[in-house]
Amino acid sequence: MLTCTPPARLLIDCDAIAANWQALRKLSGGAPAGAAVKANAYGLGLGPVCRRLAREGCTDFFVATLFEGEQVRRILPDVAVHVLHGFTAADIPTLLQARLTPVINTPAQAQLWQQVDAACSLMIDTGMNRLGLRPEHLGAITLDDLEIDIVMSHLACADDAAHPMNALQRTRFQECSTGINARRRSLANSAGACLGPDYALDLTRPGLGLYGGLPSQLAQGHIVPVVRVQAPVLQVKTIPAGETVGYGATWQAATDTHIATLGIGYADGFPRLLSGQDVWVVLEGRRCPLIGRVSMDLICIDAGDAEPAIGSLATVIGGDALSLEDIATRTGLAAYEVLTGLGERFDRHYSGGA
Ligand SMILES: *Cc1c(COP(=O)(O)O)cnc(C)c1O
Repeated sequence: MLTCTPPARLLIDCDAIAANWQALRKLSGGAPAGAAVKANAYGLGLGPVCRRLAREGCTDFFVATLFEGEQVRRILPDVAVHVLHGFTAADIPTLLQARLTPVINTPAQAQLWQQVDAACSLMIDTGMNRLGLRPEHLGAITLDDLEIDIVMSHLACADDAAHPMNALQRTRFQECSTGINARRRSLANSAGACLGPDYALDLTRPGLGLYGGLPSQLAQGHIVPVVRVQAPVLQVKTIPAGETVGYGATWQAATDTHIATLGIGYADGFPRLLSGQDVWVVLEGRRCPLIGRVSMDLICIDAGDAEPAIGSLATVIGGDALSLEDIATRTGLAAYEVLTGLGERFDRHYSGGA
């Protein structure tokens, strides 16, 4: 009989994504919600995520690039797909063919789209100073010939409800968007949605919160986990006191120690920055501390009294193991980075799919 060691597994709960979408809607005071699905739905997989959200009633999807827009269009023929990075003249045929809505960020893009008979959206820069039309640009350009679906802006500090930037950006947005003839106004990402009805306007654009990240303290208790990562036991051994484990020989056994080596590493997105931190995985129902450095493809744990079978799975992220937030706290990474860093070689399993 041929048996294979299972690869590390990434379990993605699409019902939890749907629940988070509803929870963020509720937090925003009930405004319609779209979904940011850029970067392969924050690493979780565009197809299953888009289909599940569409089934939930989501009709507006936000991507970064034209290529991502085309991918969403192939998955969902009938939703609005807004391409945040704008466009060049050469992109216009593709935008039209895939029926994508470009988000206009510059006066030059506004000029180019005048000749096009299709809707666009508009990004106004109210203080992020990243992409978007500065308010002082608005007087100098003609928007009259544009069919504008969403006029939007993006909050810089919404994760801190008390930050004065929030109200400042909202006021600026109201001032410069009122003169614009658009179907809808949108200001809030996940954290912005948590700021409630004053920020929700006609549409919110949550990303992080959908995928189980905590966008702000206001979301505590409302967002449920979405991902669980499991890694297989590849080898078990007992090493004598005094021996060390892993690169740099950073961990030394104080007593004879029973060690399990698991098939996951920083190439899978298990951050190397967790090395030497207070980190454990859950194996056979018990917490086993991470020992030594995280390697590219492997980690070692102190297995204690456990006698796991080769190939049995330890829970490494989610479930009873560390949450996304725990990992963010211990590494200084953002939960966004942990999610989008989850690697390509997982065996991916979707539950509650569309
Ligand atoms: C990524 C993005 C979002 C979603 O942000 P989250 O913080 O993940 O909720 C919303 N709007 C714009 C313009 C974005 O780039």
